[in-house]
Amino acid sequence: MLKINAERLNGRISELAKIGKIGETGVSRLAHSKEDKEAVLKVKGWMEEIGLTARIDDFGNLIGRWDAAETADQKILMVGSHIDSQPYGGRFDGAIGVLGGLEALQTMKENNLTPSLAIELAAFADEEGSRFNKGLFGVRGILGRLEDGELERKDKNGVSRKEALLEFGCNPDKFKESEYDTSRISSFLELHIEQGPVLEDKGEAVGIVTGISGPLWLTVELTGLAGHAGSVPMPMRQDALVGAAKVIIKLNELVKEIPGAPTVGTVGNLEVFPDSRNIIPEKVTFTVDLRDIDEKRRDEIENALHRELDEVSNENGLTYNIREDTRNEPRFCSEKIMDIMRAESKEMNLQPPELMSGPFHDSLAMSYVCDYGMIFVRSKAGISHNPKEYSSPEDIALGTDLLYRTIVKMAAESTNENSRADGRVSHE
Ligand SMILES: [Zn+2]
Repeated sequence: MLKINAERLNGRISELAKIGKIGETGVSRLAHSKEDKEAVLKVKGWMEEIGLTARIDDFGNLIGRWDAAETADQKILMVGSHIDSQPYGGRFDGAIGVLGGLEALQTMKENNLTPSLAIELAAFADEEGSRFNKGLFGVRGILGRLEDGELERKDKNGVSRKEALLEFGCNPDKFKESEYDTSRISSFLELHIEQGPVLEDKGEAVGIVTGISGPLWLTVELTGLAGHAGSVPMPMRQDALVGAAKVIIKLNELVKEIPGAPTVGTVGNLEVFPDSRNIIPEKVTFTVDLRDIDEKRRDEIENALHRELDEVSNENGLTYNIREDTRNEPRFCSEKIMDIMRAESKEMNLQPPELMSGPFHDSLAMSYVCDYGMIFVRSKAGISHNPKEYSSPEDIALGTDLLYRTIVKMAAESTNENSRADGRVSHE
């Protein structure tokens, strides 16, 4: 028997999916966009309906607070995820974490449960990182972890992050006021779709996450020399695209070298200049996304990629330049929270597999300031960042029920325990 209201939960998920809808099942809600704002206002309304005090901060985060004990200095249990999406994204990525959290809090209120600490539900801004090529913006913002130059990053249309935020209604000059005293955040809980095939493969609706692989994001620029495609003899060419092609193939080979390892590497974006059929490509810029739960193994692949770039550049008369966009190490979940989830799953007659997350989530940023725990919901065929992304209403309800039970347990535990086990608990 579920404790949460599955129909209400899935109704809200469908309703949110109407905002920025593309095709029959997709959504496009780019960070800080008009659609993003509409979605934020929609969820803000729901937060207020269930009695949370909701606000949109200057990073574009939506945060609803339930201050049951009404003491200003109390610890905060944070719950949430994001509602921005990829340009060609699905309905469930991020959304189930925010709306699942909302459903959990509403159920607590209906059951007259009074948490012993403040609970905040967050829909963090720009988790995806698609628009400005840098994700986890809102959550890093409140933790004071933004980097230099982030406001100057531009999207495809030349709009800077700063301009987009102003358009959204935020004031980047007031970021400081939206930052948290991080010592007050005791834990973070996130429900998310798996975005991979493991749970489906094991025939389980719900999984307990043990940690998040660290992503390394690079932007590589190769420069050669443009020339007429009809006149420059082949041995004299400095073709940047031929060089890029070799490097991309090599990366693909490198990550496949260790059989069975969860290492993954992807080039998902390529820009060719001057981008014309009869001109030899002079400059190619491409992105690299490299992930592993083993940081040392990831470093080795990164070094091999550098060697390949040296070699290919020499061979083809190119120069190259690498920009590092993001570098994170793997972050492990709190054993204490996993224990609560294990016990509650048992009560629900579930046998949740325990798995690492390849994709990163808002939890990754939170892991630097507090304990965190994550619940995964089975994804159909592991598809995500795609309108075909699907998780069944039944599975989402089960994941949300486990989230609800976990929050109830954690909110009943005492207010002031904030014993973050800083050591990495290694699982798997
Ligand atoms: Zn997500």
